[in-house]
Amino acid sequence: LIQLYMPLNFLGVLYREIKQSLTDLDKVFGLLEREREVADAPGAPELAVRQGVLRFEDVHFAYDANRPILHGVSFEIPAGQTVAVVGASGAGKSTLARLLYRFYDVSGGRITIDGQDIRQVTQGSLRRAIGIVPQDTVLFNDTVGYNIAYGRPGAGRDAVEAAARAAHIHDFIAATPKGYDTVVGERGLKLSGGEKQRVAIARTLLKNPPILIFDEATSALDSANERAIQAELKSAAQGKTALVIAHRLSTVVDAHNIVVLDGGRVVESGSHTELLAYGGKYAEMWRLQQAGDQA
Ligand code: ADP
Ligand code: MG
Repeated sequence: LIQLYMPLNFLGVLYREIKQSLTDLDKVFGLLEREREVADAPGAPELAVRQGVLRFEDVHFAYDANRPILHGVSFEIPAGQTVAVVGASGAGKSTLARLLYRFYDVSGGRITIDGQDIRQVTQGSLRRAIGIVPQDTVLFNDTVGYNIAYGRPGAGRDAVEAAARAAHIHDFIAATPKGYDTVVGERGLKLSGGEKQRVAIARTLLKNPPILIFDEATSALDSANERAIQAELKSAAQGKTALVIAHRLSTVVDAHNIVVLDGGRVVESGSHTELLAYGGKYAEMWRLQQAGDQA
């Protein structure tokens, strides 16, 4: 019996491996498919940002058709305001950011900027209007100066340095032997999560776009650095349309509006004070985090 079992077991392993390779292949083609999906519509006009009113209108989305992630998300960011999105990990917060930057297209509903459906305008013009500090920054295998200046091609060294100072990364860069000419990324100087986040913040501050997305932009920083940079981000967002995704609720207390996302649905929204008084999910998260900070 053992003799019979062994080859069958081996076949089982082989089968799993082949199946896994097919899954990987499927992913590659899935990605290519998506690239085509977010291509510009023929003759698409450029996005025209006027006041900068941003709306998610009954947005549905699924990465895989059989597992919906967003179930009809609606909220507005009025011109010049900051709206925070909070919620447990896996709630779909980063997905909102990715849809707005158009890494993917919504599967239902729409996202508009000043009334223009973001699928109907050129991707280039959309992305020029938006600065995003993603949750996980991937840097180019190029100099740290290039990585920051990428936010505004042609920016001079002074402007790059000013942005780096505001993001509290200048001193770190200046201390490396080649300074702004230091190559970073996989084949160069490896930066910590917090250093990468600060480079991404410097890039976005330099770009100075009318619409900002901060996706847990300071999550990898220690609390002293986080407080200092939060102040910079707050002043950068002044008068701009900003979507701020936060894990630490203390960073969103003074957002104009806070949207609580749970399982891909908006379950509460309001100001910090309103949500605390409401005594729902937000109040519970706040209580837990306060208790955590005390411990
Ligand atoms: P959050 O930012 O709130 O933690 P995300 O928007 O990153 O949540 O993820 C929401 C859900 O979508 C999670 O269940 C996650 O596993 C899933 N998800 C995220 N990215 C992908 C992807 N590229 N492919 C498939 N599922 C994904
Ligand atoms: Mg996220």
